[in-house]
Amino acid sequence: MVAKVRGAILLPSPYHCLIAYFLDKMTLFVKAFGLYVCHYGLSSSGMVKVLLKRKIAPRVLLGHPWIFANEVDRIEGQLSGGEVVSVFTHDHKFVGKGYANPLSQILVRLLTREESVVIDEQYFFERLRDCWTYRKQIGYTENCRLVFGEADGLPQLIIDKFNNYFVLQTLALGIDRWKPALVSALQQLFQPKGIYERNDVPVRELEGLVQQKGFLSDPFDTRIIIEENGLRFHVDLAQGQKTGYFLDQQDNRKAIRSIVKDADVLGAFTYTGTFEIHAAHYGARSVLGLDISAQAVAQANENARLNNLQDKCRFEEANAFDVLKQWAKEKKQYDVVMLDPPAFTKSRATLQKAITGYKEINLRGMKLVRPGGFLVTSSCTNLVGPDLFLDIIGMAAKDARRNIRQVCFQTQSPDHPIIPTMENTHYLKFLIIQVQ
Ligand code: SAH
Repeated sequence: MVAKVRGAILLPSPYHCLIAYFLDKMTLFVKAFGLYVCHYGLSSSGMVKVLLKRKIAPRVLLGHPWIFANEVDRIEGQLSGGEVVSVFTHDHKFVGKGYANPLSQILVRLLTREESVVIDEQYFFERLRDCWTYRKQIGYTENCRLVFGEADGLPQLIIDKFNNYFVLQTLALGIDRWKPALVSALQQLFQPKGIYERNDVPVRELEGLVQQKGFLSDPFDTRIIIEENGLRFHVDLAQGQKTGYFLDQQDNRKAIRSIVKDADVLGAFTYTGTFEIHAAHYGARSVLGLDISAQAVAQANENARLNNLQDKCRFEEANAFDVLKQWAKEKKQYDVVMLDPPAFTKSRATLQKAITGYKEINLRGMKLVRPGGFLVTSSCTNLVGPDLFLDIIGMAAKDARRNIRQVCFQTQSPDHPIIPTMENTHYLKFLIIQVQ
């Protein structure tokens, strides 16, 4: 073997032979790697490349983090579910990095638009730290939604903070893989008393994930007590609905303060009685809450006792649809009727049915309101936007032959940020109307 240095031919010494041997092997390796890169189209960072079709939806360019499978022209590289990929336009301009799942219609959920950003454990620590900084800036620290998925740049991740306890949902394969990093970030940022996983959510199955729940920290008593607006509530992090408590209504519960004074109040779809207990606390004469879930009713009655409001405030198990209809027929009257049903649909196919459902309960609700009283009504159905919701209320008023006037129209509390380019981050409608 002869070693070449800048064109000069040197006599082979054992030392030179060794260097030449390694140079040779390295050249081979680089060539092979080059071929590999060409063949599999890995991006410079070694990631799988996703190339979009020539015509990209403006949605993606405007900052929406979802890339649908039918927007993708080709994938270069061996894609394994959940991994972080780089997305490019058809002419190889960088779009972003995000986690991919070939099983999902949403093939990629973007995390960043910066090519130099490395997605690793530190990345997730920094994002959670940013989320916490934002909540502190806007004054939501005791109980808050610490991470609201896409609106916080962390697609399909939900983390609710209940004083020093945390409940986590990872609803896409991509974020599920980072669970240990998320737990470690929470430990570093908060030294929490407990972290619990509420991944018992059917939507995970669309991502090929199983439904599961359990401790992500040392086990702890998951029945905790939180404070909101000066009141106390039992929250069952393991058995309660969703993450245990509906934080998104925390400001709206305060909005009823004036209208419930000395009022007879009926609440339907009360869950653990939060609105009703607020009503009693704000000076209602009597409060009756209804929910179809026996567990929720038991918890609501306990919450009334916890706040020493049990004499004014009681809860019963009932199907609100039947009861509202029946009581409207019987011409029962209340000063304030409050409705907060669960989402009526998640699919466009059944949107019409959801609209009918909203019209029905609001019509019944209005009939139960004494002239001059108030209807407090909510909708958390994503597909029913604010305008549509107001239209439905208008139709219900027409059919109930009642005149209405709007007292306030609000949305979820700001710890669930709304991103104007992401429609589904603006999901909660909360309306108070006077019914004449
Ligand atoms: N207002 C509550 C949240 C309500 S969630 C709060 O702020 O905490 C919706 C509730 O509606 C759930 O508790 C659920 O059990 C209840 N629900 C669902 N269908 C119902 C029905 N047909 N009749 C009465 N309650 C129902």
